[in-house]
Parts: sequence; structure tokens; C-alpha cells
Amino acid sequence: MADYDVVIIGAGAAGLTLADRMGEVNQRRDSPLRVALVEPPRGPHTPPPRTWCFWEPDGGPWDRLLAARWEDLSVVGPDGAEYRSSAAPYVYKMLRSADVQAHVRATADEHVEQRELYVQRVADGTDHAALTALGPDGDRVVLTARWVFDSRPPSPVPAGRTHLLQHFRGWFVRTAEDSFDPDAAVLMDLRPPQPRHGVAFGYVLPLSTREALVEYTEFGRTPLTTPEYDLALKDYCDRAGLPEVEVTATEQGRIPMTDARFATRAGRRLFRVGTAGGATRPSTGYTFSGVGRQAAAIAEALVHDRVPVPPVPHRPRHLAMDAVMLRALDSGRVSGADFFTRLFSANRFGDVLAFLDGESGLARELAMGWSTPVAAMALSTADHLWYSLSSRFSP
Ligand SMILES: Cc1cc2nc3c(=O)[nH]c(=O)nc-3n(C[C@H](O)[C@H](O)[C@H](O)COP(=O)(O)OP(=O)(O)OC[C@H]3O[C@@H](n4cnc5c(N)ncnc54)[C@H](O)[C@@H]3O)c2cc1C
Repeated sequence: MADYDVVIIGAGAAGLTLADRMGEVNQRRDSPLRVALVEPPRGPHTPPPRTWCFWEPDGGPWDRLLAARWEDLSVVGPDGAEYRSSAAPYVYKMLRSADVQAHVRATADEHVEQRELYVQRVADGTDHAALTALGPDGDRVVLTARWVFDSRPPSPVPAGRTHLLQHFRGWFVRTAEDSFDPDAAVLMDLRPPQPRHGVAFGYVLPLSTREALVEYTEFGRTPLTTPEYDLALKDYCDRAGLPEVEVTATEQGRIPMTDARFATRAGRRLFRVGTAGGATRPSTGYTFSGVGRQAAAIAEALVHDRVPVPPVPHRPRHLAMDAVMLRALDSGRVSGADFFTRLFSANRFGDVLAFLDGESGLARELAMGWSTPVAAMALSTADHLWYSLSSRFSP
């Protein structure tokens, strides 16, 4: 018999979300599943704390842990014109990874064991998979499990045609006077100077009238250095008319934006979840809600003793649209600032958010398509179709 029924590798967004669902899984089963959530001790192998933003209607599973929520959003065009609107039927929400970690640590089902291990190797097998890992004292540990869900970051990212990065740095800032409207988050402010390929924008997530997370983000091929991000952030704060800010903390990262296909099944007993399992929406970098859909599907399969293959939580037509959009940005055919300004200024924010999270219908999507630069997008669609067909039929 294997040591565990389920081993989850990595206590990031995907691992924590799945571990959090195991209580409900065990309540609905006749016999509980023995689960291990495996994460290295805090150190060079663990990512720094981060914030996760996403949107959904009120009443979501993480509502009690939210660091902030906004019912109104605004988008600012390159010329400074502001488009502000309700996000209804959604609310834009922010979670801190440290709060999710603490919550799962404190409330996880009694059958979920949390183990400090650095996984070195995972071997698939007929009846179980075997993990080789290092313990906190450098001791070698071997674990077996009927099912393994691996959320370690993909390295390398699977091959695709277009590879961009969403790369960014954020400052948590405090100001001496009231400077922010806590009722509205600035989702995209396209006033920063634009790169030749891709797009650059700032955003502001107010936490109070005097505190906010201010980020500078680019969709592009090459990340900046930390001093370059800091210059861009300083410049953005000036453009946004912020007074002198005190930086109390920072976050920085890069998220793959690619048309590569992610396989969630890596063996008979071995699956990939999270960014490694294609949960990141290619055109936006948002991952958190995809992780939730993946975890829900896995939980349902585990309740019914089915093979728990995680779905890629995005529809094929949205992945195809994203491939076109990434191509259009990367080729420079479309100005990202123009694209996003038109999208948000011509459509209800709720409809755009529904599309960006895969909840919209085809008719609405086609209507929204008319508000984007049509000729350039049509050319990129033709380019994408030609590439897809020729790679399918090439030897
Ligand atoms: C700074 C930052 C901010 C982001 N903000 C958002 C956002 O607002 N909204 C959104 O939707 N997405 C956001 N993302 C993108 C995405 O949601 C996050 O990257 C998310 O954390 C991905 O979840 P994951 O579980 O796939 O990977 P991670 O959260 O990175 O989790 C992987 C886990 O694997 C562990 N691990 C690594 N190696 C080993 C090993 N050898 N053995 C055991 N464990 C190991 C790591 O310690 C880590 O805990 C952000 C990304 C970054 C970097």
C-alpha cells in the first residue's frame, strides 16, 4: 500500500487551493483519503509572499480572507482619459498568499499532513508514484502515493510559437495625505511610455485612503532589472499625480504568457497543476481562478474514485483567441495600449471581465472583437491559422 492516497507538491496557489478542498472531499467519501502537502522549508527554493487578485461574484470560498475588494474599476488610456465602471456582476478581490497559507495550515482536514520537504525526483509507476525528497536536516526521504499533483514551476516552459512574459514590480506605498479612493481599483493605466512590442501599464490597488499597491507591468520578451522597475514606478507615480510615497514593501515577478500547450497528465499516477498545468490564462497572466476550477474538478474526481486528471481550465477557443492576441502584440502589429483602451472603453467592464475569465458566450465575444483594431487582429488571425495548419501538416 502507498504511504498516501494523494501527495500535493508545492504549497503555492494551486497546492493550497487543492489542500483546502480535501476536507470537503473526505466528508463526501466513505473512507478518508490520506494526503500530504509537501513544501520546502522557507528559503531559496520558496517564492516570496505575493498577492493574488481575481474576480468573481460575492460569496466566494476565500471571501473571509480577503485583504481588499473593489466593486468599481477604472482604466486610464494613454491620453489620460479615465473610464470608470462597476465590475458587476463581479467584485475584484485581493488575497495575500501568507493569509491563505496560514488559513490552510490552521484549518486543513485532519487527514492532510503538511511536510517540509524539497522534492528532487518523481517517478511514475503502475500502482503508485514515488517521490524522492530532502528533509529539513538534509536527510533523504522516499514517499509513495496513488496520485501525485505537482505544482512546481515548469522548467523549461513547454515550447510554443509566442513566448512573452508578464513582468512587473510593485510597491506597497503609504502617503502622508489622503491620495487614494479605496472604492475603486485602477486595473490598467496606459500612460507609461510604451515599448515597441507588447504593452506597459501601471495599476493602483488602494488598501485605504493612504495606502495602496502600485505596480508597473509590461507584457514583453525581456524583464527589466530592479533599478529599471524602480525608475518606471517612480515615473508612473509622477504621471498618476501621487504625492511623495513611502515604500513599505515590494513584490516582483514574471508570469509566462505563451500559446504553448500544457499537458496536465504527466504519467499514470502523476499530474501537473497550477501554472505548470496550464492554469495561467495566456492573454492576461491571471492564474488564481483557473487554479480554483482545476481544484474543483480534481476534488469531484477524488470523491467518486475516478482518475483525477486536472482539466486545463480554459476553453480551446479562448486559448486560440489568446494565441492570436499574443501574436499581434509580439509582432508589433497591434499597439497594446490602443487594444486595451478600446476594449475597456467600448464595452461593459463586467463583459470584458467575463471574457478574460472564460465565462462569456461566443456572440458577446464577437461583438467585443469589433471594438479592437479589426484589420490588425484579422491579419494576426490569418497568420495564426496558417501557422497552425502548416505545423499540423508538416512532417
Ligand atoms: C508576484 C506575483 C504576483 C502574482 N499575482 C497574481 C494575481 O494577482 N492574480 C493571479 O491570478 N495570478 C497572479 N500571479 C500568477 C500566479 O497566480 C502565481 O504565480 C501563483 O502563485 C501560481 O500558483 P502555482 O501554485 O502554480 O505556483 P506557486 O504559487 O509558485 O507554487 C509553487 C510551489 O512549489 C513549491 N516548490 C518549488 N520547488 C519545489 C520542490 N522541489 N519541492 C517541493 N515544493 C517545491 C514552491 O515553494 C511553491 O510554494 C502572480 C505571480 C507572481 C510571481
